[in-house]
Amino acid sequence: YSHRPRSIPIPTSTGPKRIPVGLKKPSKRIVVTGGAGFVGSHLVDRLLDRGDSVIVIDNFFTGRKDNLVHRFGDPRFELIRHDVVEPILLEVDQIYHLACPASPVHYKYNPIKTIKTNVMGTLNMLGLAKRIGARFLLTSTSEVYGDPLEHPQKETYWGHVNPIGVRSCYDEGKRTAETLTMDYHRGADVEVRIARIFNTYGPRMCLDDGRVVSNFVAQAIRKQPMTVYGDGKQTRSFQYVSDLVEGLMALMEGEHIGPFNLGNPGEFTMLELAEVVKETIDPSATIEFKENTADDPHKRKPDISKAKELLNWEPKVPLHEGLPLMVSDFQKRILNGEK
Ligand code: NAD
Ligand code: UDP
Ligand code: UDP
Repeated sequence: YSHRPRSIPIPTSTGPKRIPVGLKKPSKRIVVTGGAGFVGSHLVDRLLDRGDSVIVIDNFFTGRKDNLVHRFGDPRFELIRHDVVEPILLEVDQIYHLACPASPVHYKYNPIKTIKTNVMGTLNMLGLAKRIGARFLLTSTSEVYGDPLEHPQKETYWGHVNPIGVRSCYDEGKRTAETLTMDYHRGADVEVRIARIFNTYGPRMCLDDGRVVSNFVAQAIRKQPMTVYGDGKQTRSFQYVSDLVEGLMALMEGEHIGPFNLGNPGEFTMLELAEVVKETIDPSATIEFKENTADDPHKRKPDISKAKELLNWEPKVPLHEGLPLMVSDFQKRILNGEK
């Protein structure tokens, strides 16, 4: 399996890697697993716009061709229907590994498949990275902190996770994926990066994905009551998708392994979120209380000092600016009859 060097050869003996003056930055070949999903499709857009070639691997469990259809004519873009639980041979420079359902409703739908995706899928992508000498980035999650006893959460916090609960396929799955990533780094010299992503929202989220922002927005547009689980006093921090994509690319291109929290530190209770959605969409929107799900974390807010300092990254889009962008996307899709 011959493969091209990662980029043009660069003298490595002295100082940081630098592209020789006069040479254009070479374009990269990049795999995005889960690239037909919500975050992945936005990342693919940015990478193609930057001039890179992108191969998406996706089994369309929660992703949709619609998210990428505007790229279908581009010769630098390729979409492969493939399940990361199965091995695959490719030749690329970088691997962004996103494949995994992210919404609790989706990842609890088939928990065995979720943990297989996290463990076997991540193992395969690390095996691929090792064989071809590609840099590998794992999209882990704030869920590795579980129902946190430290607030806000720093990367040094080891978490408070139920290993046998209904969320474990996801949070323990991602913790194992982080372990695999570090073991391939230490044991096989794979260049790795780990992002711990906090709740992210934006256009192209599944209308029915069950996450709180998509639920409230779709409900308010359809003139249905917004479903608040439990007493609505639990908190989350909501990041707009373009901020996350910038953070992932800064991490991949930078010199630091991580893990890095990537999230917006603005913290809202679910009742406050409902209020913002109401102001944005329909002042007459109502709420309805529903029983909460098991093991729901009470609060979550990232400490992002590490990413600020080492990646020079911080989110720029506050909720009241990002939400309207998502709302107009949802309005269009709901009007078009999408379910
Ligand atoms: P998403 O469900 O929209 O995207 C996941 C994509 O992975 C989908 O296109 C799906 O079809 C694909 N996929 C799932 N299992 C697969 C498999 N076995 N083989 C190939 N493809 C598979 O979710 P998202 O919000 O875009 O999340 C992307 C990544 O970011 C996930 O790894 C998720 O855990 C992580 N993350 C997201 C958030 C968030 O708030 N969006 C928060 C923390 C972590
Ligand atoms: N793998 C893959 N593509 C590759 C190389 C490896 O999908 O290009 C898979 C491989 O099938 C294995 C996993 O990645 O299941 C781990 O590979 P590694 O070489 O690290 O382990 P081994 O194959 O020796 O168990
Ligand atoms: N939630 C809610 N109403 C909904 C969906 C979710 O009140 O229609 C709550 C849920 O109980 C949790 C928070 O919103 O406390 C965030 O849930 P989500 O599924 O979006 O993501 P999580 O952070 O739990 O992975």
